[in-house]
Amino acid sequence: MNLTPSDDRTHQPSFWINYRGSASSPRKDGRRLASATSGAGQWGSAAGVQMRAGQIREHVEEGRSRDATIDRVSLLGLSSRRRLCCLKHHTIILFAAASIVGASCNAASSASLDTAYKTIAAARFVDLTHSFGPNTPVWSGFSQAKMAPALDPATKQPYSIEHDGFRTTYYEMVGQYGTHIDPPAHFDERGATLDQISLHQMILPLIVLDDTPYLAKDPNHAYSLEDLRAWERKNGPVPKGAFVALRTDMYKDWDSNPERFKRSPFPAWQLDTLRYLYEQRHIAATGHESMDTDTTEKMDSETYILKSGHYQIEVMANLDQVPTKGGLIVVSWPKVRDGLGFPARAFAIVPR
Ligand SMILES: [Zn+2]
Repeated sequence: MNLTPSDDRTHQPSFWINYRGSASSPRKDGRRLASATSGAGQWGSAAGVQMRAGQIREHVEEGRSRDATIDRVSLLGLSSRRRLCCLKHHTIILFAAASIVGASCNAASSASLDTAYKTIAAARFVDLTHSFGPNTPVWSGFSQAKMAPALDPATKQPYSIEHDGFRTTYYEMVGQYGTHIDPPAHFDERGATLDQISLHQMILPLIVLDDTPYLAKDPNHAYSLEDLRAWERKNGPVPKGAFVALRTDMYKDWDSNPERFKRSPFPAWQLDTLRYLYEQRHIAATGHESMDTDTTEKMDSETYILKSGHYQIEVMANLDQVPTKGGLIVVSWPKVRDGLGFPARAFAIVPR
């Protein structure tokens, strides 16, 4: 497999596409980091991300401290009922008690995971991901994907079920293709790459903000801080650690009217809204239906998100089928070493 700098500058001369390791930062000269990908489909294992120290700032720490508390928690950290239960059974030697408490709490947590799984399995699942192919919309600075039968290097013939018992596809495309993740490293030389984002970042409470009521008057409405405050007056504060997605319904054009889908301007975020969500509400990540975060070419909002150590999901689908709060999102992507972006799979788990 080759991971190369994307060199397609044909349609958007204002940006250069560099593989990570470029000496220039996107902020200084407006360069946009991305990598183009080509390779056969059966390369490594898809979906799953390694946890590595301190990459995505606050929420990794949150995950860690949660891990640490399970086996090191003091009795004071337990509910009074659990404390009583633990104390009743292990009253004599405090150190021994502490370790046994750990064990009994692990048992309790596997029971709660069992309950959690039953709840999840009975919930409604909504796919927030578009199918993509060689003809689906892509940002004007990148090329359409190429997908072809993978060839046997010895014979130069495509593998086929008839002759070889299997078939596979050779993909050539930019990482930012279809519904995709932008990791911090897409815009930040020192930002986390695809393989460095914590697993805890891949399942999060989901909040969906609805931009559609504003679109009749203003078809390219940028969701404002005022809009968010109106949402919070009705729904309460956006919870810490949430994934916040912006619904605009423009996803409906993806298959039926790709040219319209690629339009600019389009409805998106206002930078102040994102700043408030990340800095005041301490959310984990954001996503939207358009191919870009910003309605302008300055890319202020995207630069802000990625340079502050958060990832985003672009080109999301079906957000109109998800409640504004009360759901979960699961997002996954292949674990490309030093990867700067890749098609992602996102889905919501929502109450029936
Ligand atoms: Zn992107």
